[in-house]
Amino acid sequence: MVERVRTRVVAVDAESPQEEVIREAARIIEGGGLVAMPTETVYGLGGDGLSAEAVARIFEAKGRPATNPLILHVASQQQARELSRSWPEVAKRLSEAFWPGPLTLVVRRAPQVPDAVTAGLDTVAIRMPAHPVARALIEAARRPIAAPSANRYTQVSPTTAEHVRAGLDGRVDLILDAGPTQVGLESTLVSLVEDPPRILRPGMIGRAELGQVVELASGDGKEGRVVDEDVPRMSPGLSKRHYSPGARVRVVDEATFAQLIASPRAQGRAFIGIGAKASAEGVVYLPDEAEGYARRLYAALHLVDASDVDEIVVEKPPEDGEWEAVHDRLRRAMG
Ligand code: AMP
Ligand code: MG
Repeated sequence: MVERVRTRVVAVDAESPQEEVIREAARIIEGGGLVAMPTETVYGLGGDGLSAEAVARIFEAKGRPATNPLILHVASQQQARELSRSWPEVAKRLSEAFWPGPLTLVVRRAPQVPDAVTAGLDTVAIRMPAHPVARALIEAARRPIAAPSANRYTQVSPTTAEHVRAGLDGRVDLILDAGPTQVGLESTLVSLVEDPPRILRPGMIGRAELGQVVELASGDGKEGRVVDEDVPRMSPGLSKRHYSPGARVRVVDEATFAQLIASPRAQGRAFIGIGAKASAEGVVYLPDEAEGYARRLYAALHLVDASDVDEIVVEKPPEDGEWEAVHDRLRRAMG
């Protein structure tokens, strides 16, 4: 068996990150190493986005197929433009409205972007994160940082440094711990190489908000599935089980949820419900508003999955538009 060295976890202030911590992390990135960093969405597994070798290490650490492209994280509009062959008017409008923030834009790529980042596609996904630690690290490293979620392939994305350590200990050179992430779900992904722009992956910046800035391809509420089944080359990373925990996930209505909790077979199951009830062993209740629910969903999945059950029963969230990203992730977790 290969012995892996335990990864060092360093605490860093989420609001005003300590300079010496950022400097050390930046040196690792510059040297081709990997740093797990907090962003406002989930923790990212960061490496030099312009180095094919560093990017190869990211794929290796995650056990992710190289056919699945990465997002490049930037600290300025200028940096984003340098990564793209053209920066259309819609990119300008969306980035000015929502950056820094949880929105990723897919545009034509510039020649300097390594093939490894885009999995050979002619497009590149770019985002400017809002998290002060991510921003400081990108600036200090003086290059875009490629950063997929800091989890092993097909595992649930990490929203705490502990989630990262549990999945990637020994596979990453440093983990920056700035506490739990704010948004809790991956960024909204919008393709700008189609006209009108299309949502490839819903996120907490919703269709309604985006629609106030640009006209979007008509939504049938199933973007994730459309991408999965019909246009796999458009977004190869959107494989169905991308976000799944080990146990089977089942989403049921309120009445069935109540019935299953009370049933004698409840021991082999864990439950994720909605509303202000006290969580108990094997049962986690999440807030009944979308933002709070999204922020805590992955932590709940990590928690109940660790309790080694066969099935995770989830009470179905409301259908309103602001829950679209939550439904998308639950669908993927169901496989
Ligand atoms: P993650 O690795 O969890 O950060 O997710 C990144 C997502 O962005 C994956 O689903 C990728 O498939 C998607 N992605 C990255 N680059 C592109 C691209 N050029 N076109 C379409 N989707 C992309
Ligand atoms: Mg991921």
